[in-house]
Amino acid sequence: METLFIGGEWQSASGGGTRTILCPADGRRVGEVDEAGAEDARAAIAAAREAFDDGPWPGTPARERGDLLLKVADLLERDTAIVARAESLDTGKRLVEGEYDVADVISVFRHFGHIAAEDAGRVVDTGSNSVKSRIVHEPVGVCGLITPWNYPLLQVAWKVAPCLAAGNTFVLKPSEITPHSAIHLMKVLDEAGLPAGVANLVLGEGPTAGAPLSEDPRVDLVSFTGGLATGRRLMANAAATVKKVALELGGKNPNIVFADSDREAALDFALTAVFLHSGQVCSAGARLIVQDSIKDEFVDELVARAEQIRLGGPFDTDAEAGPLTSSAHRDKVEAYVAAGLAEGATLRTGGKRPEGAEFADGFYYLPTILDDCTTTMSVTQDESFGPVLTVETFTDEDDACRIANDSIYGLAGAVWTRDAGRAERVAARLRMGTVWINDFHPYVAQAEWGGYKQSGIGRELGQAGLEEYRETKHIWHNIDPSPQHWFAPRSPSTGTDTATAKEN
Ligand code: NAD
Repeated sequence: METLFIGGEWQSASGGGTRTILCPADGRRVGEVDEAGAEDARAAIAAAREAFDDGPWPGTPARERGDLLLKVADLLERDTAIVARAESLDTGKRLVEGEYDVADVISVFRHFGHIAAEDAGRVVDTGSNSVKSRIVHEPVGVCGLITPWNYPLLQVAWKVAPCLAAGNTFVLKPSEITPHSAIHLMKVLDEAGLPAGVANLVLGEGPTAGAPLSEDPRVDLVSFTGGLATGRRLMANAAATVKKVALELGGKNPNIVFADSDREAALDFALTAVFLHSGQVCSAGARLIVQDSIKDEFVDELVARAEQIRLGGPFDTDAEAGPLTSSAHRDKVEAYVAAGLAEGATLRTGGKRPEGAEFADGFYYLPTILDDCTTTMSVTQDESFGPVLTVETFTDEDDACRIANDSIYGLAGAVWTRDAGRAERVAARLRMGTVWINDFHPYVAQAEWGGYKQSGIGRELGQAGLEEYRETKHIWHNIDPSPQHWFAPRSPSTGTDTATAKEN
């Protein structure tokens, strides 16, 4: 199968293998793809390098680059049904969620299309008419883009759109288990008229197809979204050639509910926070931190509602949440719950696979709530990336902030209260890249996204998302050069001054 896109050509792998992609909802075959070996990845890097060093894209005016991204958005809108279906089959998520995701992808391309030419740099006042000084932005070069499986094309879009807006070339390595929407994007980029070699796609496993992107000296920047352990490894690999590194890593995100919150809204959002996409969301509100005075009634109601959640596959229109992405991932979630129970958590609901023939061939896991958790347990500290909610209690505002911040992660969090002053105080104290007040999960392409602490380095989306892919250069132009004579020039024979030192 020709599923690698290198130098503007669809190619089969010369050194990898093939992979059968299975739908996590029922284990059925979705398709087969070629996977790159390290030599294919290196060929893709060479193509991106050549396109950057000798091709037209880096020098294409920013406005034209933006126009191309807007065209890509239009083409993706045309192809919404195809892409949403591909995403849902690869991930097992409901088709309606696949459709939401494509709409988000389109808005990301539109956002970077619009801002590509917005900031052309600035003139610096040097205080002198004989010197012109300016700050300009230039592309970084060849970018290695590595993405996860939970929102396959959206995570790709967050990197590809700003990367192209800034004039770079790239090699993309999407998750090995969700390749189909990335394949479609390459076709769309080609159709939109992107020059050959600017966009390259390698499929395959991280250590084989992805690692060269963090190691090869011809790559200037590596942008990675995925798990903390992989991110650490990648950063270490990138150190040898001092690449620019952007990391969007995991989260273990607190959802703080005060007794004075709007109870119905807080309950409803607490469910969405953790069980949306079966918890396979980096910003999932997997830690409920609830005030002690309302804890029992709040959690009782949450348990009752969690037990009503309907699981099902992409095309089950009654389903509210889908399966986990793979059998191996479900094993991980199960081990995580077992560890929590061994540490003293109380199982309130879930903690097992659903029964029924319709679930037998998929990788489903029931919405799970673990009560009586504390910050010292692994179950409140480690990311499960599954439908598992831990419950901790707090007494007052200080206690809530202390518990919520007790984490190596700092991706996102929320606070629920009707007291506007308290909401602002807590939001200011949370060490997280995004804080929602009386809400959970929303984001817009115009606002930055990124983590504090070990949740990441750098920002995606917004204006800063574009900055990640640009070098900033100061150009100092002396337009009236003349000798300065800091050291008075003297005649070598007589030692007398030949000029008077210029006063400055
Ligand atoms: P992962 O770390 O296992 O894999 C991510 C990507 O890295 C995949 O493409 C994988 O093939 C590749 N990879 C693995 N080893 C590699 C190596 N040695 N060199 C180069 N590439 C390598 O993560 P995952 O399971 O695919 O995704 C889930 C994780 O992603 C969660 O931790 C989640 O929180 C995180 N995530 C974060 C954000 C965010 O915005 N912060 C968004 C989505 C997902």
